[in-house]
Amino acid sequence: MTYVVAEPCIRCRTTDCVTVCPVDCFYAGENMLVINPEECIDCGACEPECPVTAIFEESELPKKWSAYIQLNVEYASKWPGITEQTDPPSDWEEWKDVEEKKKHFNPAPAS
Ligand code: SF4
Ligand code: SF4
Repeated sequence: MTYVVAEPCIRCRTTDCVTVCPVDCFYAGENMLVINPEECIDCGACEPECPVTAIFEESELPKKWSAYIQLNVEYASKWPGITEQTDPPSDWEEWKDVEEKKKHFNPAPAS
């Protein structure tokens, strides 16, 4: 089992979660983070830090977001690691309650 970053993170990349991860297993795209399941030790520290409830233990991930399990696997090997908090998008609060954000997913690595 691992923890998974799901759709609510898109355009809300506040990076609060990276500050508490003991094994530095977050990876950064332009507008979302993912968790490397090979590195996550399942400690759960990041879950309560997320202001948009984007992080789930894999077995508790809502079914509508099950594709994010594979998306985390795929992009953890394509994006750079992130270990320090960065400035959030200026408009992240406008996006936190928006549903169906998958079309806004940006596959580019964080610059
Ligand atoms: S569950 Fe723990 S190890 Fe896994 S991503 Fe969250 S803080 Fe890191
Ligand atoms: S705290 Fe939540 S919204 Fe912010 S970067 Fe981490 S997973 Fe994404």
